[in-house]
Amino acid sequence: MSRTLPPGCRRWLDAIALYVDGDLEADLCRALEAHLQDCPDCRVLVDTVRQTVYLYRAAAREPVALPPDLHRRLFARLPGLGEEGSAVGRTDAAPSEAAP
Ligand SMILES: [Zn+2]
Repeated sequence: MSRTLPPGCRRWLDAIALYVDGDLEADLCRALEAHLQDCPDCRVLVDTVRQTVYLYRAAAREPVALPPDLHRRLFARLPGLGEEGSAVGRTDAAPSEAAP
């Protein structure tokens, strides 16, 4: 991953980002695709950008795909946190209530 792209490929970086995004002009799109035929480095780059964009978009569209009761179960496991919203002052209040 540390190797740099050949100078002839650097100018395609912006185009590749647009290409993956579907925003590349048709002319540039054809030119880029022609370049991709001859350039495995740029094909890898397109794949990488595409995956990154896909993951990013998947995450953005579904920020939380967690079970509704996950928070409750998670909080229940944390020391000092009992039920939702009752964590503050709970441990302090308990002894005085128990001892008259
Ligand atoms: Zn290239």
